[in-house]
Amino acid sequence: MEPVFCGRIGPDNEVCMDITGHPGFHSAAGIGGLCWGDGDGEAGS
Ligand SMILES: [Zn+2]
Repeated sequence: MEPVFCGRIGPDNEVCMDITGHPGFHSAAGIGGLCWGDGDGEAGS
């Protein structure tokens, strides 16, 4: 089975390990659990 994760790159080059299409903030796996984004679409100002 392939891992299906968001894969969004964060401000600290972290990769979101949450599931694809997850609601809310992106979050990286590992120590600290960095979170980023506003969880509301992909529109960057
Ligand atoms: Zn994400």
